[in-house]
Amino acid sequence: MKRSAVVAAGLLAAVSVVAPSLVAPSLVVPPAAAAAPPKGGPGKRPVAEGRGGAVATVDLDASKAALEVLRKGGNAVDAAVTAAAVLGVTEPYSTGLAGGGFLLYYDARRGKVHTIDGRETAPRRMTATSFLENGEPIPFDEAVTSGLSVGVPGTVATWDLALRRFGTISLRRALEPAIKIAEKGFVVDQTFHDQTAQNAERFAAFTSTAKLFLPGGRPPKVGSVFRNPDLARTYRELGKHGPRWLYEGRLGEEIVATVKRPPVAPGATRRVRPGLMERSDLRAYRAIERPPTRVSYRGMDVYGMAPPSSGGSTVGEALNILEAVGEVGLHEFLEASRLAFADRNAYVGDPGHVRVPLQELLSDEFAKERACLIGERAMAHPASAGEPDGDYGPCPGAPSPAPKGVPEQTEGPETTNLVVADRWGNVVAYTSTIEQTGGSGIVVPGRGFLLNNELTDFTFGPAEGDPNLPGPGKRPRSSMAPTIVLSGGRPVLAVGSPGGATIITTVLQILVGRFDLGMSLPDALAAPRASQRNTAETQAEQAFVDAHGPALTARGHTFTLAPDGEIGAATAVEFLGHGRVRAVAEPARRGGGSALVERP
Ligand code: GLU
Repeated sequence: MKRSAVVAAGLLAAVSVVAPSLVAPSLVVPPAAAAAPPKGGPGKRPVAEGRGGAVATVDLDASKAALEVLRKGGNAVDAAVTAAAVLGVTEPYSTGLAGGGFLLYYDARRGKVHTIDGRETAPRRMTATSFLENGEPIPFDEAVTSGLSVGVPGTVATWDLALRRFGTISLRRALEPAIKIAEKGFVVDQTFHDQTAQNAERFAAFTSTAKLFLPGGRPPKVGSVFRNPDLARTYRELGKHGPRWLYEGRLGEEIVATVKRPPVAPGATRRVRPGLMERSDLRAYRAIERPPTRVSYRGMDVYGMAPPSSGGSTVGEALNILEAVGEVGLHEFLEASRLAFADRNAYVGDPGHVRVPLQELLSDEFAKERACLIGERAMAHPASAGEPDGDYGPCPGAPSPAPKGVPEQTEGPETTNLVVADRWGNVVAYTSTIEQTGGSGIVVPGRGFLLNNELTDFTFGPAEGDPNLPGPGKRPRSSMAPTIVLSGGRPVLAVGSPGGATIITTVLQILVGRFDLGMSLPDALAAPRASQRNTAETQAEQAFVDAHGPALTARGHTFTLAPDGEIGAATAVEFLGHGRVRAVAEPARRGGGSALVERP
């Protein structure tokens, strides 16, 4: 999203501080003026249209690497894994090999959607009370920067499974472009600098992290070249030895040692709780193929990620509610999200540990009952969860049990989504993350990557009956919502976004914009966003409030500005018929993304 790799810019590896004007002028102008040329260097565009394969990611280097794979005859899965590995280098605070994610794959030949659950997992020593102290939740900030919140990583297992099942190249090949960029470096832009600066205090608390991300004790300067030879070496070894090096071998040993005894810098004052991970937890880890969620919407089939993500079930339920309502505008979008979030919070967790009534949550009958609650005005807060029990009354007989489930503790603004389509019509939507910007803040010494803090996605409690309490070997509930839409078995579009629980509302809003409000896909991505997650006030971007605030306030909605000003950073691809394809990224949010097609 933010940086142009030196290798991609065609500069010499030997240059350590590049004259900014040679590389990417937009990287060094003050932020206010930075809107003019696309960030990330020449060639970075948010929309591309043409034939053959197509890619959209947040980062030009990742998109280029994926396109190169497609050009050489690789398929969508090969290109997606390649791009994800590059993002581990250029977006190290959002994603990486010690994180997790969810991948959707449409297989054009068989007309089938597959999913891979690569979610991080709690160690077997974790219990429902692991995040409590004297019956109270531990301070959230302390949990974020700790060994305790590090989940068993799922990303490498995801890459391996995806390539073995659906790909055509080896993991070793897929890692090559990322290795080159890690070695030669990328030019630091304002965003990377700022993200480092925001994390500087906790990065400084760990010797390994400070060494990598705070060279000379400070965030790398804008315009300088950031290299990560440790990560290049790690990827190279991983390519050589395969995933067992992590899950059963040396790298795994080092991860466990770091989690159990984080390398706290002498003199650091923050309390760093150790983690519970053992080597046996790594050995037990599996990326899981799961059936996708599916709902029909306006005659199309919308496929999403099943639990432990709440992405597919919540987007799906909201779409079903909207279809039951009939005419759809922004009021209905907000109300359907509110209801679907009430149900998500009450019922969705890791299906290996709690019974998730997924079929009922996604049934048209349940949606009809829920839709009865939507009136002319915003409903009273909070909306109660419904009863997805198979027994549904006619309107107005909707039940109103007490609210259940605990709302999200935090909305991390990081994570990253990528979409790829290949010339054969296969499609990938892949969202991956290390949770918080900068994950746990802990780099595995000498290895060049950050550990995740995904276990903070659990409900800390105490919250009896909450489906998302921690447990041994349990996967925390996610909101990641990679989505693929088919019509008559053929792909229509694919989309996904980062943004914690706002991922769900962003994906939903884009689908509503495209299919109900008559927007083009680029317009649906660019449109100002709002996020209603069964909270009293709806979070919104300023532009949304400016455009729609008065009309929606008159119907009883209230708004608060999104904490980071922006909501989400989506990427998408759309099939236009007759072999034409359009890749779409953000035009402005987070500096804009990068869309490319094989034959423009
Ligand atoms: N941990 C979040 C989830 O799984 C994603 C993090 C984010 O998007 O900020 O839903």
